[in-house]
Amino acid sequence: MNDDLLHSTVEIMKRAKKVVAFTGAGISVESGIPDFRGPSGLWEKFDPMEYATIEAFHSNPKKVWGMLKEMAIILDRSRPNPAHRALAHLEEMGRLSSIITQNIDYLHQEAGSKRVIEFHGTSKNLVCILCGHIYDRRQVKLEALPPRCACSGVLKPNFIFFGEPIPWGAQLEAKEEAGSCEVMLVIGTSAVVSPACDLPVMAKRRGAIIIEINLEETQLTHYISNWILKGSASEVMSRIVGAIGGSTRPRMGAS
Ligand code: NAD
Repeated sequence: MNDDLLHSTVEIMKRAKKVVAFTGAGISVESGIPDFRGPSGLWEKFDPMEYATIEAFHSNPKKVWGMLKEMAIILDRSRPNPAHRALAHLEEMGRLSSIITQNIDYLHQEAGSKRVIEFHGTSKNLVCILCGHIYDRRQVKLEALPPRCACSGVLKPNFIFFGEPIPWGAQLEAKEEAGSCEVMLVIGTSAVVSPACDLPVMAKRRGAIIIEINLEETQLTHYISNWILKGSASEVMSRIVGAIGGSTRPRMGAS
C-alpha cells in the first residue's frame, strides 16, 4: 500500500465535515463470506444469475432455497472482521456519518455501527410473500423447503434479488448521504451492480473526494476515484483508524 496516499487519506478525513463509507462484498470476504468475483465454493456451485433472480425465486422457490440454506450456514458462522470494526470505531469517534452497504450480512451492525443503510436489504429477516409477516431468520427452521409462513405463504429473505427494486427508504437515504458527503470511502466493491454503483458517481459530481480500498482496480479507479489504497479492507481500515486514533470529534448533534 502507498504510505503517502494513506497519509493523505487520514489528513483529508480529519478535515472533512462528512465522511461516508460505501461497502460491498469484498469487506466481508475476510469474515468468510465469499464475494461474487473471487474463487469460492458457493458461487461456483450456484450461478448467481441462475439462483439470485426474482424470477428464479418465484418459479422454483424450493430450488433457490437450496442455495439460500447453504448461504445461511455461511452467514451464521461469520463474524465481523477488523474492517467492520474499524468503521464502527470511526463512527464512534464522530469521524464517519454513515455506511451505505450493498451487503446483506448484517456484519456492520454486529460490529457496532449504528447508521447503516442497507441498500439491498438484509438477510436477518424473512418475509412472507403473501401476507408480509416478518420473521427472524434464526427462528425459522430450514428443514422442509421452502419455509412457509403460518398463512402458508412462501418465506423470502428480506433482501432483494436481481430484478427487484431497491427498498425506497434506503434509496432515499443513500442518495442523501452520497450527495452531501465530502469524502466517500468505497470499500470492497467491484462497483458493477446497478444502481448502487451510481452512488460514488453522484458523490463525485457533488464534489466529494472518492477513495477506493480494494485488492485490485475497478471500473471506478481511473474515472471516478481520486485514488485507490490497494490492500485488504481489514489491513487498510485498521491502519486508517490507527493513524486517526485518539482524535475524537464530537458527534453531530452532541452537546
Ligand atoms: P463483488 O463480488 O462484485 O466485488 C467484490 C470486490 O471486493 C472486488 O472488487 C474485489 O477485488 C474486492 N475484494 C475482495 N476481497 C477483498 C478484501 N479482502 N479487501 C478489499 N477488497 C476486496 O461485490 P459487490 O461489488 O459488492 O457486488 C456483489 C453484489 O452481491 C452486491 O450487490 C451484494 O449485495 C451481493 N453480495 C453480498 C454479499 C454479502 O452480503 N457479504 C456477498 C456476496 C454478494
